[in-house]
Amino acid sequence: MHNELKNRDKAVNWHPYTQMQTAKDAIPIVRGKGVYLYDNEGREYIDAISSWWVTLHGHAHPHIAQRVGEQLNTLEQVIFAGFTHEPAIHLSENLLKLLPENQQKVFYSDNGSTAVEVALKMCIQYAHNRGKEKTKILAFKNAYHGDTFGAMSVSGRSVWTQPFKDLLFDVVFVDVPTPENLEYVKHIILELKDEIACFIYEPLVQGAAGMLMHNAEDLSELMKFCRMQEILMIQDEVFTGFGRTGKLFAADHLSEQPDIMCFSKGLTGGTMPMGVTTCSDDIYNTFLSDDKYKTLFHGHSFTANPLACSAALASMELLLSESTQSNIQRITEKHRQFAKVLSTLDQVENVRQTGTILAWEYTTGKETSYFNEIGKLLYEEFLQTGILIRPLGNILYLVPPYCITEEELDIVYAQIIKISSSFEYPKTADAPANFLQEK
Ligand SMILES: *Cc1c(COP(=O)(O)O)cnc(C)c1O
Repeated sequence: MHNELKNRDKAVNWHPYTQMQTAKDAIPIVRGKGVYLYDNEGREYIDAISSWWVTLHGHAHPHIAQRVGEQLNTLEQVIFAGFTHEPAIHLSENLLKLLPENQQKVFYSDNGSTAVEVALKMCIQYAHNRGKEKTKILAFKNAYHGDTFGAMSVSGRSVWTQPFKDLLFDVVFVDVPTPENLEYVKHIILELKDEIACFIYEPLVQGAAGMLMHNAEDLSELMKFCRMQEILMIQDEVFTGFGRTGKLFAADHLSEQPDIMCFSKGLTGGTMPMGVTTCSDDIYNTFLSDDKYKTLFHGHSFTANPLACSAALASMELLLSESTQSNIQRITEKHRQFAKVLSTLDQVENVRQTGTILAWEYTTGKETSYFNEIGKLLYEEFLQTGILIRPLGNILYLVPPYCITEEELDIVYAQIIKISSSFEYPKTADAPANFLQEK
């Protein structure tokens, strides 16, 4: 009986990032509440990764549900070319108020990858509209900006992009900045600056590469340099936005302002798909013209969908509430304490944290890799104990919804200690953490 959903699923569904031949059956989830997911056999799971980093306030949050429900009965969708609506206007007003002051206009799309596509097109056409052709893009090694072709192009070359590598466009990859390499990175940029349309980066945390972290001062310094060279900056806050880094946005840790910003994931509190690309008036004004060819010819069927806008408005109300803000600080502080304990374990290394994001690695005696089989084993072990953690190879991380309680965090931490202590892999010399890098 219980297998019915699993069998029906297998007959018709192709799951993301999943080798369907060897994957275990997908677990049917029948409902969610707060930090918990419930399967069809009555088991519960603590969602310690916010369902791929999207869920901010817990599952099936009544406030968001109510707002979306009201909107559903009023206006579910309208073409956003030639028409507008209160939820989109209100959301843009509210969002811009929270962003660096140079961010002045909002362009809506459907997800993080499309938010990035829009940003790239803005930058390339920005040059074009000014009579220049610039086609090179600057990005960080190990970057991840999404799975559509443009977004994949500006992501680090890896096992994920391998089959498409000849079709990806021209990108200059540099290391994330450190005090030691900053001069060298600047030198590379200087050589190519006239060809570079823009610089795209994940600020502070490179999520999909395994929660690799870099320092706000060094990034600010690099941004300042790009500003001086008139290279447009796209700050991809699809993951880091809406409180993950301990502040509302990674931008709040930086002393320089980007030209363009991308958002998705937590934007709607994880309830509805939506992407946002914001930009400065300088960018926007470059598309204003009597010449029709200078128009940004981009749009999606569901641009600024009113339901998604209302979910985002409701989620932002929750986010800005005192209780959520103190929850973010509470989780940040509790992670900090736990990181100390974690660092003392034999098999654990490279413990790192930015705000509510905590990551660490297991020494496995093998190279740090997405395919490192320890990831699969750990995933299963945690699931058995009722915790959803999805390792990136031998890298584990926590990105919990902000509603997670002290007790629930303690349960998760205790399991991590228990499971981590029971692994018996030989300790080896430092493995490179850039596990996405192609061989
Ligand atoms: C997840 C992610 C994306 C892609 O977003 P999707 O909604 O999955 O397309 C882009 N950039 C960053 C930094 C991300 O973490």
